[in-house]
Amino acid sequence: MKFFVLSRGDQTSDQLSALMKQKLLNHDFIYEADTPDIVITVGGDGTLLNAFHQYVHRLNETAFVGVHTGHLGFYADWRPQEVERLVYYITSQELETVDYPLLEVTIEHKTQDTQRYLSLNECTVKTVEGSLVVDVEINDEHFETFRGDGLCVATPSGSTAYNKSLGGALLHPSLPAIQMTEMASINNRVYRTIGSPLVFPAHHTCKLSPVNDRSYQISIDHLTFMDNEVKEILFKVAREKVRFARYQRFPFWKRVKESFIDET
Ligand code: NAP
Repeated sequence: MKFFVLSRGDQTSDQLSALMKQKLLNHDFIYEADTPDIVITVGGDGTLLNAFHQYVHRLNETAFVGVHTGHLGFYADWRPQEVERLVYYITSQELETVDYPLLEVTIEHKTQDTQRYLSLNECTVKTVEGSLVVDVEINDEHFETFRGDGLCVATPSGSTAYNKSLGGALLHPSLPAIQMTEMASINNRVYRTIGSPLVFPAHHTCKLSPVNDRSYQISIDHLTFMDNEVKEILFKVAREKVRFARYQRFPFWKRVKESFIDET
């Protein structure tokens, strides 16, 4: 089995990464950065987001598992003191995985070229000059004209991240769905938006079309870029999924409770 360890880069994560790497090498596992079967991240959820984008071209072949060296994470849900046990599972058990849905983002440019992205957490669309004004279409039918700070479209596993700060619902990651939330929409007698987060099933699409000529600030997880040629942005549940190694059960709602209510 080929493995790779990605550290957040702080001293604690680097030391733990080196320890895990050595233990797995002692079991004749092969350390391989290009085509690993399993990627172990050591740090936080942000470290796992980095690993996801590093291996997004081989999601069918690479599984992920995360160890947290700070607070409990949603993707990084193994504790540093459980590393011995994690190594034991990796080296002695068949790789069993659990699949989480992803968000597909297709940006069509005025020049006709398109760019496709996969997101593990969410995509956000904002402008840096004035309000974002976009027509929102659901399944090719006009739904509303949004005016405000921006829009966020999240995966179920990303629903505990930016989406939660925007008042979105927490969705169980087994649901093949995506959720759109508003950032400070303008609502008065002239402008009107739904105001509530919207959850779309896998066979629905949501499309944003700019109403005015602006530069868009688009983020896909932790990656942000400017785009001033946007014709439309299409969101849907991707056909690809991300695979997490599952050696023990750590129920989602327990993680939600421990992360946001109290650590038991
Ligand atoms: P960051 O600004 O350094 O950290 C964002 C925080 O979000 C970190 O505490 C991170 O956990 C946590 N996080 C990431 N994915 C999560 C998930 N699925 N559920 C719960 N918490 C999660 O940025 P980053 O580390 O590069 O992560 C990028 C993410 O930041 C974006 O995908 C977005 O979701 C989030 N973000 C949130 C807000 C907001 O809530 N207002 C604003 C911008 C971006 P760790 O500490 O374990 O890494």
